[in-house]
Amino acid sequence: MIDFRSDTVTRPTAAMQAAMQRAPLGDDVFGDDPSVNRLQREAADMLGFEAALFAPSGTQTNLIALMSQCQRGDEAIVGQMWHTYRWEGGGMAVLGSIQPQPVENQSDGTLRVADIAAAIKPDDPHFARSRLIGLENTTGGKVLPLNYLAEVGALASAHGLAMHLDGARLFNAAVVIAEREADPWPDANSKPNTLVSANSVNVSHTAIITAARSICSHFDTVSVCLSKGLGAPIGSLILGRADVIARGRRIRKMLGGGMRQAGFLAAAGSHALEHHLERLAEDHRHARRLASGLREIAAKEGPLNGRLSVVEPDTNIVFVDIAADLGEPFQAHLAGESIGVTGGRYFGGLRLRWVTHLDIGADDVERALASVARYRG
Ligand SMILES: *Cc1c(COP(=O)(O)O)cnc(C)c1O
Repeated sequence: MIDFRSDTVTRPTAAMQAAMQRAPLGDDVFGDDPSVNRLQREAADMLGFEAALFAPSGTQTNLIALMSQCQRGDEAIVGQMWHTYRWEGGGMAVLGSIQPQPVENQSDGTLRVADIAAAIKPDDPHFARSRLIGLENTTGGKVLPLNYLAEVGALASAHGLAMHLDGARLFNAAVVIAEREADPWPDANSKPNTLVSANSVNVSHTAIITAARSICSHFDTVSVCLSKGLGAPIGSLILGRADVIARGRRIRKMLGGGMRQAGFLAAAGSHALEHHLERLAEDHRHARRLASGLREIAAKEGPLNGRLSVVEPDTNIVFVDIAADLGEPFQAHLAGESIGVTGGRYFGGLRLRWVTHLDIGADDVERALASVARYRG
């Protein structure tokens, strides 16, 4: 199968497996797994935080961030479409006794600053205590601009609220920000506020880290997945001040996320942070090629003519809106051609999601496009 379902499906590379095999191990619940400690130190230093904590999943690192900063009866302001609100089983309410206050998402992925401001409650016994603003970057593959993060950050500090970033795909956002810094005018048609370059430039490991630090500088805590585009098999990190992470360690244990010889997994994470940042740009290129190829097919005579609408990707996620009646036969065709995508209802239509990653090469993209072009209705 050419598996576009998610960037979580990647298998560890041979080099990553070798790094896992070599990892010195201890018992991380006792705090003495050298490979976990190394990963946590490296990541904190890399992203400009005092401390970091390794946990089994991004769902858990998000929950740890929320529970270590919000008390029972506090409120977290989040996006209606954010993972923390919609895709984590209601964990903050169920397990944290934290009230989520969702705010409508705009089509560029942001929440309007005015909407966030309007959701902040005054200190009044009728209301839950507004305590934290959560953002997500990338969100649906879109990159939130740095000046937007600064604006929300200023609002949070004016109200004494904590800022948490669900940065499951932080480094995908960092690659785009770094490209933008390197080449702010990629083509004559781009407007000053167009974030994403049409032709990507190669950016260095260091430039990506600098961009990631700029993103992180607006947040008290950041959660990062190692198991998505970075290609590690399992694991996420939560980063923040030492006192927040110390509370987080207790919460991780309580949630069942204390792992023993976890250095085996942490070594995969360290390997990913060292070797897999620059290559994310390749996933973005593949996503753009996929998007333009699908558009070309939809522009030609045939059963897909005018029936696919492709959202231009910022990073590694391509959304394709298809006519509702096309849903079943087209999805069956893709399945028959061994192409894995995910699909869901979206504002009354059907939206397919194609995610590029480490295990999808340029040739896989071309093969997938050829398969789509074979659709006969
Ligand atoms: C994948 C993802 C997570 C965490 O998912 P896990 O599968 O629990 O690791 C969190 N937020 C976003 C935006 C994600 O895409």
